[in-house]
Amino acid sequence: MYYSLNHNAPKSTFEHAVRKGLAPDKGLYFPEKISPLNPDFFNQIDDLSAAEIAFEAISQFIGNEIPTTELKRIIQETLNFDFPVVAIEESISTLELFHGPTMAFKDVGARFMARCLGYFNAQNNKEITVLVATSGDTGGAVANGFLGVKGVNVVILYPSGKVSQVQEKQLTTLGQNITALEVDGTFDDCQDMVKKAFLDDELTAQIDLTSANSINVARWLPQMFYFMLAYKQLKSLKKSIVFSVPSGNFGNICAGMVAQQLGFPFEHFIASNNANDVVTRYLATEQYSPKRSIQTISNAMDVGNPSNFVRIQALYNNDFDRLKSNLSGYRFSDENTAQAIDSIYKTSGYIADPHGAVGYLGCKAYLKHNPNTHTVFLETAHPTKFLDVVQPIIPKPIALPPQIQQVMSRPKQAIFIENYNAFKTHLLHS
Ligand SMILES: *Cc1c(COP(=O)(O)O)cnc(C)c1O
Repeated sequence: MYYSLNHNAPKSTFEHAVRKGLAPDKGLYFPEKISPLNPDFFNQIDDLSAAEIAFEAISQFIGNEIPTTELKRIIQETLNFDFPVVAIEESISTLELFHGPTMAFKDVGARFMARCLGYFNAQNNKEITVLVATSGDTGGAVANGFLGVKGVNVVILYPSGKVSQVQEKQLTTLGQNITALEVDGTFDDCQDMVKKAFLDDELTAQIDLTSANSINVARWLPQMFYFMLAYKQLKSLKKSIVFSVPSGNFGNICAGMVAQQLGFPFEHFIASNNANDVVTRYLATEQYSPKRSIQTISNAMDVGNPSNFVRIQALYNNDFDRLKSNLSGYRFSDENTAQAIDSIYKTSGYIADPHGAVGYLGCKAYLKHNPNTHTVFLETAHPTKFLDVVQPIIPKPIALPPQIQQVMSRPKQAIFIENYNAFKTHLLHS
């Protein structure tokens, strides 16, 4: 069962938590218990496939709500691409999470959540509408993951003129059960409209709404697979493993910490931040003071008040010292980030995206004081998703991968929305 981190709502099944997103007291859902995996699992891990590892890890969070054969199928379909670890420097590797259909790490969570909802919907005929506000990557991953899922309508709100061309194509060209709303405003305006819709009684009386951001347990938890699959590839090094995670809403790093509590022997985590450094400041001062988000070149991490921070606190029973002994935070400017893209290319020939570059800098900073560890930064998106930043730094043309080429030739379909009333009218009459 799941409980609300606001502690003022009934306990919830997995299905209910997935369907609702947030608890009725507006708290995030959190598993009541996290039980370490059997030591045999770790002894056998070399012989297990990615899907087998993922199944062992996630089944306790789903219980008997999805039958084993169905859950195995869902995992198989979710993980149908690779998660390679690539060596960069002697003590630094990168874990590439961009080999999925939209070339950002959010593909795994979106595909898993979509298939869970699809399974639950096969049992009844209730339609559900998934609302997502996106600053870029989430929209495409959710659109792609949910395409064609029975009984699920997806409505994506994105800020007009403020997402990259590739991102806009990824979220506006699919059709079927996916609708893109181009909002006359900023990402914050999109997010406000979504929040307002969840609180709108007239709307929620007529339509079942849920969210597909990392507040949803079915999007958040499968992210732990990445860390496990990296461990399998790195364990023969026989060194302690430290992950540097470029963080925005802190869902990804928090899932890595769940993997650690399941028994994976990770040494430490690094939260690598851009100018949006609320957690880095918290680790230095023990004061949590959210701020409005600041725009940077690693824009998927432009989050002023990370929604999963409360989950991290819950994982450590609100014990600041315990958290601090397992997590370091560093902040890097846009200038540092651009320089890192350049120096990674010059020293290793590797082309990093701006988010990965922030992660790389986190590894460098940590290694200064902990030279005997092996650090891994998560490469959370393919560099061509941020071509306007990366291409001017890299002295050769960067080719568009086939997934991106394909989508660029399709026509954009979006409905222009000026304000909340237009959004609500659209939801009620479509
Ligand atoms: C979403 C995203 C992040 C941040 O992940 P969180 O789980 O929100 O911390 C980092 N990089 C990229 C490319 C992303 O799309």
